[in-house]
Amino acid sequence: MEALAVIVLVLIIIVLICYKKPDPVKVEALRIQRQLEVEALRKEELLKKIGPISPAYICPHCKEKGHVHTIHVKRKKGVSGAKVTGALLTCGVSVLATGLSRKEGLTQAYCENCNSTWDF
Ligand SMILES: [Zn+2]
Repeated sequence: MEALAVIVLVLIIIVLICYKKPDPVKVEALRIQRQLEVEALRKEELLKKIGPISPAYICPHCKEKGHVHTIHVKRKKGVSGAKVTGALLTCGVSVLATGLSRKEGLTQAYCENCNSTWDF
């Protein structure tokens, strides 16, 4: 009977050790660090997507200067008729190589001040 009590006591101690409350300062520091990492990663991904700020560019929507990101992008612009004909003639071989849609290079702009996106 006493042995059982000891075992239960040991189990309780183990559980208490395992579920010991973590140091709130450490937890907060870790949380902030993780948040900063996530923000840095997000910013990096965002910059890859919207490009760097063009300081001289004035936003046509809010007329603010220095908030516009620009990046050169290639965008699919509908299905090219010539390519469809080519696909029919070559039984689709050319489609594998080039795809049916044309790609057009343009500059995509994003204003972080008024959150507008436009192409030019
Ligand atoms: Zn704007």
